[in-house]
Amino acid sequence: MTTESSPVSSRRLRAILLPRKAQPFFGRHPWVLASAVDRLETPPGSPKIDHSGAEIDLCNERGKFIARGIYNGSSRIRVRLYTWLEEQELDAEFWQKRLELAVELRRRIGFEPEVGVGDPARSQSAARLVFSEADGLSGLIVDRYGDYLVVQPTSLGMANRLPLLAAQLRELVPCKGLIVRLEAGAAKLEGMSEEAPPVLPDELLGTPPEGPLEIVENGIKYEIDLSTGQKTGFYLDQRENRLAATRYLQGKRVLDLFCYTGGFGLNAAAQGAAEVLGIDSSKKALALAERNATLNGLGNIKFQFGDGFKTLDELALAGSQFDAVVLDPPKFARNRGGLNAALMAYHRLNRSAIALLPPGGILITNSCSGSVTADDFRMMLSGVAQKSGRDIQILEARGAAPDHPVAATCLETEYLKCFICRVT
Ligand code: SAH
Repeated sequence: MTTESSPVSSRRLRAILLPRKAQPFFGRHPWVLASAVDRLETPPGSPKIDHSGAEIDLCNERGKFIARGIYNGSSRIRVRLYTWLEEQELDAEFWQKRLELAVELRRRIGFEPEVGVGDPARSQSAARLVFSEADGLSGLIVDRYGDYLVVQPTSLGMANRLPLLAAQLRELVPCKGLIVRLEAGAAKLEGMSEEAPPVLPDELLGTPPEGPLEIVENGIKYEIDLSTGQKTGFYLDQRENRLAATRYLQGKRVLDLFCYTGGFGLNAAAQGAAEVLGIDSSKKALALAERNATLNGLGNIKFQFGDGFKTLDELALAGSQFDAVVLDPPKFARNRGGLNAALMAYHRLNRSAIALLPPGGILITNSCSGSVTADDFRMMLSGVAQKSGRDIQILEARGAAPDHPVAATCLETEYLKCFICRVT
């Protein structure tokens, strides 16, 4: 075993870990938290500058190379790791290969049609092409909506490299234009200015969509707002769960809570649900949801503005009942520190939801908090069953669609839990 740093490494910026902190990174976890880092070592003679955005080698306390990544002095995730091979440079060819691998996966699973711009198979479909850590590209999200790409850097390192990555993406994926989105929460965590997203040259941006963009998912048409919609415009991760849910919702009266632009409810309404009520606290999302109901000619679905928690209490007070409730709230925990509060919120929400269900009712309950594991979520449901004196049978424990893979070495990528349950 080498204990000395190699000549290659010593010419680079290095992050030296505290003793006994190296194990997760030998285990290929890509996030090095500030609390694990002892010190930075700069190459001899290098200027004293903020190295945020620069390549860095991660070494154990004896100076042994572990992995190579990108540094950010403003983020709790101090280093994001991209390769465990010491001879591998993080150069243009490296990023190109990672993007190719990501797009190739979507082609293989049939989410990315191999046709050109303007072909209906492409213009009407949408898929996540790059999912951050799950594709070895921590801090980069790329979704394709029809003939447009929406690129969302969630790390400073990827934001800085956006001109290169965007050029490579445009070569790899035929499209008419590219839109850059910066999410406020991620920007803050990474010390990026939300007002000044990375600027790309016009030839990379192409032409923005003229008027509203429409996609078809599971046979349902949706109008998508690429510039100001939530996430990159749509919750693509729920594609297969929306369809799976319909099996249990035929002939039922369904409450779709946290409905956004109608996803679960529209699928249910189109597949034979008796009636659907969608609730959300975003007026913009509800306006699109209404449009989507009209676009699909569905008369058995209504939408109402409201707070999810309050609406459940009001419905219970009014003695309302539903045959099925879908719960798909926003993320309740950003990290493990917020876990307990998040689990309490999930408990309250699920308990109130099952109070509206008669025996035999269906609960479709989701969590998109990466720090809440599927086991945590099961335990929460167990607590709800115990407190409410009802039995909850988990019929299907599902995750995100396969264009949102899970990295075995970064289980935070297994963020979406969708449990379809019967409550007796
Ligand atoms: N089920 C949706 C996605 C839901 S995302 C789909 O299939 O597309 C979470 C939604 O919760 C967002 O639309 C957001 O506007 C909404 N939301 C956030 N806080 C809320 C609250 N307190 N009450 C109601 N809706 C809320």
